[in-house]
Parts: sequence; C-alpha cells; structure tokens
Amino acid sequence: MEIRDKLYIDGAWVPSTGKGTLEVFDSNTEEVIGKIPEGTAEDAEKAIEAASAAFGEWSSVSHEERSKLLARVAEGLAARTDELAETISREVGMPLSLSKIVQVGLPTGVFADMAKKVTEFSWESEVGNSLIVREPVGVVGAITPWNYPLYQIALKVAPALAAGCTVVLKPSEIAPLNAFILADVLHDVGFPAGVFNLVTGLGNVVGEAIAGHPKVDMVSFTGSTRAGKRVMTLAAETVKKVALELGGKSANIILDDADLDAAIPAGMFACYMNSGQTCSALTRMLVPRARLAEVEEKAKAAAAGFAPGDSLAATTMLGPLASAIQRDRVRGYIEKGIKEGAKLVTGGAEAPEGLEKGYFVQPTVFSDVTTDMTIAQEEIFGPVLSIIPYDTEEEAIAIANDSIYGLSGGVWSSDKAHAEQVARKIRTGQVDINGGAFNPVAPFGGYKQSGVGRERGEFGFEEFLEIKSLQR
Ligand code: NDP
Repeated sequence: MEIRDKLYIDGAWVPSTGKGTLEVFDSNTEEVIGKIPEGTAEDAEKAIEAASAAFGEWSSVSHEERSKLLARVAEGLAARTDELAETISREVGMPLSLSKIVQVGLPTGVFADMAKKVTEFSWESEVGNSLIVREPVGVVGAITPWNYPLYQIALKVAPALAAGCTVVLKPSEIAPLNAFILADVLHDVGFPAGVFNLVTGLGNVVGEAIAGHPKVDMVSFTGSTRAGKRVMTLAAETVKKVALELGGKSANIILDDADLDAAIPAGMFACYMNSGQTCSALTRMLVPRARLAEVEEKAKAAAAGFAPGDSLAATTMLGPLASAIQRDRVRGYIEKGIKEGAKLVTGGAEAPEGLEKGYFVQPTVFSDVTTDMTIAQEEIFGPVLSIIPYDTEEEAIAIANDSIYGLSGGVWSSDKAHAEQVARKIRTGQVDINGGAFNPVAPFGGYKQSGVGRERGEFGFEEFLEIKSLQR
C-alpha cells in the first residue's frame, strides 16, 4: 500500500489543510493500493501563491541551467521505469510491457526533448524595425486525466518549465501515484522552491480553484469535453490562456483498394490500445459496403487476439479499464449499441469469462452501425469498435466529419497519394495514413470540440510562451 499523505508545495512536502483522503484502486483486483490527500481550494491557493512568487526568478534562470535540470528529470524518470510502469499498469490497466514504453518511455522522452528545445529554440526574431521576443506565459495550472497519466503530465509540465513558467499540477484522482513519483524526482533534481507544485484532490474543488484563480496565467487541461468546457468558462473570468485536449470519436476510413489484411488488425489495435482509453483511438471503422462481410470476419479474428487479463501478466494484450465507473459506463454503451439495433459481431456487455472481479470489459465489435446511433457519436473510452458501412468515398468523408469532435483519424489505401488527399478532407488535428508511425514531436491536438491548442514538440512548447514586440 502506497500512502502519500502530503502535498508538494513551495519546495516541501506539506499536509493538506483538509482532513480527507482519496483511495487509489488496482484495476485488476479492485483492491485499494494507495491513499492520497484530498486537497482543498486553500491548498490550491497556497500552491498558486508559491508558483507566483517563484516565477520572477525561475523565468530569468539561464536556458542552459533549465536544460540541465530537465535532462536530469528525464534521467530520474528513466531510473524509476519499472516502478512507474507497474504503478501505472495497476492504476490504468495497460499491459506492463507496453506501459514501460508508452506510459514511462514517452514522458521520459518529453523531458529529454524539452531539455534540448530550451537551448535550441529561436527565442528572438526580427520583423522590420521590431525585435520579437518570446517570454514565458507565467503561472501554469495543469489539470490532467488518468488514461496516460504521466505522459499527459509531462506534455504540460516539461514544456512549461522549459519555457520558464512555474506550475501547479492537479493530476487525476484515479491515477495519481505516478505524479507523486514525478514530484520526488523534481525535488531530488533540485528545482527552486515553488517552481513545481503538486496538489491532489477532486476536479470540481482543486481543479476549479486553479482554473478560476486570478494568479494563474494559463490553464492547460486534458480530459473530457464536459470538464474542459467548465475549465474554459472559469478561465474566461480572468481571460487566461487556455489549452484543451479533449475527447474524440475518430474515424478510420478503409478505402476500397486497401489491403484488409494489414488495415483491419492495425485498425483494431488503434481502437483497443490501452483498452480503448485513448482520446485519439480510431473507434469508428468506415468500410465499403461491398467489403463489409470480409471486414467483419477479419475484425472478429483480430478481436480474439485481444484476450483480456491481468495487466501485470506477460501474456495480456487487453488489460482492465481504469475504474469501476469507466467499466460500467462502457458496458452501458455496449448495451445501448445492442438496443439501438447495431449488429454485435463479437463481445458484449457481460464480464469476460473468469474476470468477474476487476474492471474488465470484453473486446467488442459492432457492425452495421449508422451515424445516428449513440455508439457512432459518443466517446466510449473502452474496447468497442463501431464498423460503419459507406457507399461512396464522398459519403465516407462526410461520415468521418459528422462528429462534434475533430481529434484524429486514419485512411487506408494502396494509393498513398490518394489516401493523403482524403486525409486533407478530414477535419481533425491528425490523420494516420496506412497506419503511419507515431511521431512524438508532431503537433497533437483537436479541431472542433476536441480542443484548443497543440501539445508535443516545438508547437507544444510555444503554447507556453507569450510574444512581445519591441519597436526600435
Ligand atoms: P474528467 O474530464 O472528469 O477528468 C480529467 C481531469 O479533470 C481530472 O483531473 C479531473 O479531476 C478534472 N476535472 C473534473 N471536473 C473538473 C472541473 N469541473 N474543473 C476542473 N477540473 C476538473 O474525466 P473523467 O474521469 O470523468 O472521464 C470521463 C470521460 O472523459 C471518459 O470516459 C472519456 O470519454 C473522457 N476522457 C478523455 C480524456 C482525454 O484524453 N481526452 C481523458 C480522460 C477522460 P478528478 O481527479 O476529480 O477526476
């Protein structure tokens, strides 16, 4: 049992002003594996004051020094890879071998990348008689979710610190233990007091206190569109800069000349990765009506390869979901799909055999899904694929764009140039062509209700900068 009874504020571990604690659960067993403080609005206030007081000095620390400190964070995280991966696999449910690469390797890489960015970046440029200088935004409030908990934290904290901002982090209550490990690493590395602060607690208490506070200059949020809208509303009161990474309902268009043997298994992985708890998951598979039966058969076979099991077991391909709420929510969507008349190809709302305990959901595939169905429109966040048939390419593009979201997408074709043309017509922040490889420094973010702003690489770094022009 991991008991963390203090918050990290102004360079020290301090008790919360409240008495509450929150429990953290093992998604495999439903057992309590940790306890954390249920922070208060007063705790958030203290952390914001500390971050505000630290900003002047931190923003003037040399780029070289900031770079060194960030590189040491990457080293500190790398040294704790096994502990972090196991913690996150228990919290979130991702299979352990994948957690090491995705849940720990990626965030470690973000700190290393930002350590380089801070010294390589062009901080100044000229436009006519003006000198353009980039300056840190100020105090950043970072509110993060549970699905890729440390990665989503790193995508905010690393560029913010690199830019010269100070940070107050509120991680998700569902997967917070990894954030405490990060705070330990940052403390050991020796960041000045107040530069990084960690306040755990409920979103509607600590999160809202951060989003509405006048001394927070920017709030960077990742999570549901519902909570993102609330954050944006609260931030509007003081006209803060707002960055939002929200939900998605991304379409994977399989064109009629696609190699189905490659496209279907890859598409299934892009939907089921992390048990479907991925904002950019390709949850709608759009297929030519003439090839529907063939696709259903291949999808069913591919789904059988995702046997659910304990996230710490070496053979597991599909771990549990992160919480009982999520499990029940996803099972509810499966029931709704059946009720609304979609064809259940495989899976279902019942617990997978032998896995009644734990937050497990069967790998599920629906076909003959129509765009008016709930499972074609709402983010499910579980291992549930909706196959939607189309008659023409124009119709496929229209279906892909028939969503309040605009986060991601895929196109498969044996004619890559043609696939690229189709990709340009999809109104989303990213599209993978023929399963194009993940690029950790390519900008990531959403159109429409999937968000505002971009994370990762140079674009993500620039989000934490203000631009000033000096006329000479
Ligand atoms: P939330 O959006 O509620 O959680 C994300 C973060 O926001 C958490 O830290 C949460 O705190 C915080 N939060 C919640 N309400 C507020 C608020 N009013 N003001 C400020 N911060 C707030 O996601 P859920 O856990 O409820 O998940 C529900 C659904 O959201 C999922 O099924 C999925 O569809 C979507 N989602 C999308 C994600 C993405 O990557 N885009 C990530 C996670 C969820 P707390 O600790 O209290 O939860």
